[in-house]
Amino acid sequence: MEARRPTWEVDAEIERLYRRNRRLADEVKKVIWKYADRVRRVKGDGFKVKIMNFCGTHEWTTVHYGIRSLLPDNVELVAGPGCPVCVTPSFIVEHAIRLSLEGVRVYTFGDSFKLPAVRPVKGVRNLAEAKTAGGDVQVVYSFLDALKDVANTRRESVFLAIGFETTAPGYALPLAERLIPRELSILSALRLTPPAARYAIAEADRRGLTPIKGIVAPGHVSAITGAKPWDELSRELKIPTVVSGFEPIDLLISIAEILRMILRGEVGVKVEYRRVVSWEGNREALKAIYRVFEKTDAAWRGIGFIEESGLELRDSYRGFDGFDRYGLEKPDRESWVMDNLKGCRCAEVVLGLVKPTDCKFFLKGCSPSKPLGPCMVSSEGTCSIWARFGGYLDLKNL
Ligand code: SF4
Ligand code: SF4
Repeated sequence: MEARRPTWEVDAEIERLYRRNRRLADEVKKVIWKYADRVRRVKGDGFKVKIMNFCGTHEWTTVHYGIRSLLPDNVELVAGPGCPVCVTPSFIVEHAIRLSLEGVRVYTFGDSFKLPAVRPVKGVRNLAEAKTAGGDVQVVYSFLDALKDVANTRRESVFLAIGFETTAPGYALPLAERLIPRELSILSALRLTPPAARYAIAEADRRGLTPIKGIVAPGHVSAITGAKPWDELSRELKIPTVVSGFEPIDLLISIAEILRMILRGEVGVKVEYRRVVSWEGNREALKAIYRVFEKTDAAWRGIGFIEESGLELRDSYRGFDGFDRYGLEKPDRESWVMDNLKGCRCAEVVLGLVKPTDCKFFLKGCSPSKPLGPCMVSSEGTCSIWARFGGYLDLKNL
């Protein structure tokens, strides 16, 4: 028997019209094939339309619904850097492990609980192991949960603040309002998405790989930032960009739109996810973010420093900076040491340069239950998505 749906949800039959409408998907697929065929005729057989779907949830939709199997041969969809857990540098995880073992309570989201450190701390490789070894680690659903907990316990605590622009307001607003108990500080691993997209696209060029010709920009991030930063990036790189929603139909429409833009030689951003994303974004959230944080050159795991790609607390909020409070070292460009496990190709997976199946550990030593690298940890990580839902299958040849 089908479980009763909560009263606040749209009726399943009506919802299916949009979510699982095969006829609608076929219509959009036809448009994709029509445009792709025109691209082939105009640009030649060797011209590959390589599109980067930036966001981890877009990769989930792509794999879960077999979107790649619907695309013509001259259209390729590659996953991008859109998983904040995957790109969190090892040194921050190591600091968090060490603090937890020294009695400081470390709050973390569930998807970072097993995020591996490259250099074990007292034999401990992740926060899950730290907890087993007696470290003080608490998994929470939100920053607010941690605030409430610290208000009760009054324990020295840090929050492992991992995330993109989507998550940043959740930290910025309570900080801006000075609602943080003095016992709590944060370790900011907050990262910004357009600089990472720029870097990934340049890296494909540097390595002489097929260049990226279109970007499917992240929907949740853009709900905060607005479409504007993607428009600027699109014009700078001369690559059409579409901010997309997360249903399979959204993705298919976004791909069709990118092909249409390529045919017309258009650049700039289009917003497919209009039901959520505006041009300017969430002004209040942005105001809070930049009141509390400032942009900084930041390290990305296995990649190194990307200019103006991170958020660190402004001087007036430094009292809440866990790095400062506990005297934790932050490497700079000179002292940075690459932090991928030997043989793990996560950094290349994140940049869309290789597929998870190109890694020798994929499902041979590295799996969601026993992750070796960061891309296998989070539900948004490309390796984890491929391992769980079979993105490695070529459905067309089944
Ligand atoms: S926070 Fe949302 S938009 Fe950003 S990468 Fe994750 S799923 Fe995508
Ligand atoms: S399969 Fe595992 S080891 Fe290989 S790239 Fe992915 S996360 Fe890294």
